[in-house]
Amino acid sequence: PLILGIETSCDETGVGIVRGETLLVDAVASSVDDHARFGGVVPEVASRAHLEEMVPTIERACREAGVQLRDLDAISVTSGPGLAGSLMVGVASAKALALSLGVPLYGVNHLASHVAVDIVEHGPLPEPTMALLVSGGHSSLLLVPDVTSDIRSLGSTIDDAAGEAFDKVARVLGLPFPGGPHIDRAARDGEITIDFPRGLTTGRDMERHRFDFSFSGLKTAVSRWVQAREAAGESVPVADVAASFQEAVVDVLTRKAVLACREQGAQHLQIGGGVAANSRLRAMAQSRCDDAGIELRVPRPGLCTDNGAMVAALGAQMVLKGRDASRLDLPADSSMPVTQISA
Ligand code: ATP
Ligand code: MG
Ligand code: FE
Repeated sequence: PLILGIETSCDETGVGIVRGETLLVDAVASSVDDHARFGGVVPEVASRAHLEEMVPTIERACREAGVQLRDLDAISVTSGPGLAGSLMVGVASAKALALSLGVPLYGVNHLASHVAVDIVEHGPLPEPTMALLVSGGHSSLLLVPDVTSDIRSLGSTIDDAAGEAFDKVARVLGLPFPGGPHIDRAARDGEITIDFPRGLTTGRDMERHRFDFSFSGLKTAVSRWVQAREAAGESVPVADVAASFQEAVVDVLTRKAVLACREQGAQHLQIGGGVAANSRLRAMAQSRCDDAGIELRVPRPGLCTDNGAMVAALGAQMVLKGRDASRLDLPADSSMPVTQISA
């Protein structure tokens, strides 16, 4: 089946087209530059940008894939979670397309799509797959028996998401928004000289929160460290702080992910979401998975951050597995839980 997927949950207007499990095109227009001066995504600015970019991005995707709208077999769209006003633009556009073309509409979960995109990169997901979802708003360990029908959350962050921690620490270090890629880059020139805390990894914390994460204490530790330096009139070694902070995040994520695979008998670990683009996370996950005999699957960085291909990929799986389509009065659900795959 030929599926067009629409993503508008945050600041990327994404349109992807897949044929079955093959990616034909991934067209993304981002309003990230419009938000940078505010230090975070401004919802009203994002939804207006989606309105402006939606039709041109659909046209560009079709043109680049050599596809006519009338060839499409189904439309899929992110129905949640995300920014309400942004989601509504995508959902309304997808309804209009599905209605006018007379094809089914699949409202799918943005987070499940971060996992499902790996199918168009590396082929069918083994059942079960362990997924480490690390993005701007979420950090969870998910046991995925079937990405179209069954996702179980083993644990998630009890405070900040991993991407949020990268963005906040970047701000402390005077790096631009969004901070993840800047910390990644700065860390390459730095050394791991500071031993920052690894939240929920020892003693009772670990017992009670085996597969949960906590990054807010780490963020506070970094800002205290930087403030102490500044108060002493000393310069802040940005690259070393970035490398040390990144190491703490990546150490915890990979340690708990491998442990979850071992305990749940999963032989495959998939990592998805924007933080999966992080070069140190990719390297450490690879070496720890190699040591544990686990097969690691991480999509190319461009498919880790928000895009339309991921939505098309999950939509195609819904069609291939014969799942029910959504109703045309499908709502946008800004707080859709990770365990709800479609709407
Ligand atoms: P969610 O998927 O939870 O709704 P989101 O869609 O806003 O949130 P994504 O686009 O999946 O988030 O990811 C964006 C996050 O990824 C940002 O916090 C960004 O800083 C982070 N990120 C992107 N690239 C990197 C990188 N190379 N290293 C670390 N973090 C990164
Ligand atoms: Mg974004
Ligand atoms: Fe996302």
